[in-house]
Amino acid sequence: MKTNNFDREHLWHPYTSASNPIPTYEVERADGVYIQLKNGKKLIDGMSSWWAAVHGYNHPVLNRAAQEQLSKMSHIMFGGLTHSPAIELGKKLLTLVPEGLQKIFYCDSGSVAVEVALKMAVQYWYAQGKNKKTNFVTIRSGYHGDTWNAMSVCDPVTGMHSIFGSSLPHRYFVPSPSCRFYDDWDENCIVPLKECIKAHHENIAALILEPIVQGAGGMKFYHPQYLKAAKKLCEEYHLLLIFDEIATGFGRTGKLFACEHANVSPDIMCIGKALTGGYLTMAAVLSTNHVADVISSRFPGVFMHGPTFMGNPLACAISLSSVNLLLENNWEMQVKNIEAQLKEFLSPAKEYPQVADVRILGTIGVIEMKEVVDMTKIQCQFVEHGVWVRPFGKLVYIMPPYIINPDQLTQLTSALLSVVSKQ
Ligand SMILES: *Cc1c(COP(=O)(O)O)cnc(C)c1O
Repeated sequence: MKTNNFDREHLWHPYTSASNPIPTYEVERADGVYIQLKNGKKLIDGMSSWWAAVHGYNHPVLNRAAQEQLSKMSHIMFGGLTHSPAIELGKKLLTLVPEGLQKIFYCDSGSVAVEVALKMAVQYWYAQGKNKKTNFVTIRSGYHGDTWNAMSVCDPVTGMHSIFGSSLPHRYFVPSPSCRFYDDWDENCIVPLKECIKAHHENIAALILEPIVQGAGGMKFYHPQYLKAAKKLCEEYHLLLIFDEIATGFGRTGKLFACEHANVSPDIMCIGKALTGGYLTMAAVLSTNHVADVISSRFPGVFMHGPTFMGNPLACAISLSSVNLLLENNWEMQVKNIEAQLKEFLSPAKEYPQVADVRILGTIGVIEMKEVVDMTKIQCQFVEHGVWVRPFGKLVYIMPPYIINPDQLTQLTSALLSVVSKQ
């Protein structure tokens, strides 16, 4: 079980001390829903490698797509050149995304997608001579990535804005929606956003938020009506609406995109994570024709962004294969079945004295503890129970690959309840 020494001494891990890191487990391979550790232990994956590996690991169909593309080209620049993986993936995505989204900007990662979306919004208003509309409004408890401007719209407390001081742009923050997903809608829930937009719309380019599910900022599920009301405010006060569907996209919440719970389409939408089925890093920003045309209408006449690995053919080919697999596998049924089982098997935790709340939406099961968990201890307990679950703060949660079968899911939820009851 001992951590690899080189890893311990030289490799940073996400949000982990480099000097005194908690132990890491070395993975030899992963197949389907199983993660095989070097020490011989086999774990059932409860995390989908952070929302991404919806089809599990080492999938023959995705492997084949990768190999076929590799034999043609792994990468080619996208400036002045194009290729069938980018075109075919784009065609497929446009049949699936919310109404009105017609233009696709491929980029490297979720955080970069958020940067691109924010830049699009600013350039959209610049092109119309509205040079003051450069700021953003968002809701607290959000998470949009770790690069500079993505970080600026993350929750200021969990994102630790205080560390970065004046180097971080100041955004407008309103409280996280008070109306939860399964509550009755309360009109008062939208008032803080309304007041903020009313007061500051002349300085605001866009509202950015994660629709329905706030992920790494708190694993909160809020009411669909909030999105409807937000959309109306954006129209009334001339703000673009940006949805960050990087975590929620591709079925995770029970709809292909979480904004479908509210039937609201954004002006700009970010997708990533499960886009490649968890194989490679790639994301995309979709916009309406209107946004793209306005940006292109004024000097410099182009959108000012163009990553080296834009439209990477290997990532596009795998993504296309992953999206097709999602449809062939009947993701909706997979997610419904997992949701029903999570609701049944995780509910008992509500009665535990250590537990503050249990909530489930789609394939996301969250147990919110009353106290912050001891990461080193709980991580070790999960591994001993043969499952891979990585909590943060008070949140112990799972979002397994959609291919998990009922027996495997039972093992996962039993381990979860057992470990939680011991905290
Ligand atoms: C993970 C995530 C991001 C950032 O994506 P990376 O690929 O890690 O840069 C942005 N927004 C949301 C909602 C996310 O969950």
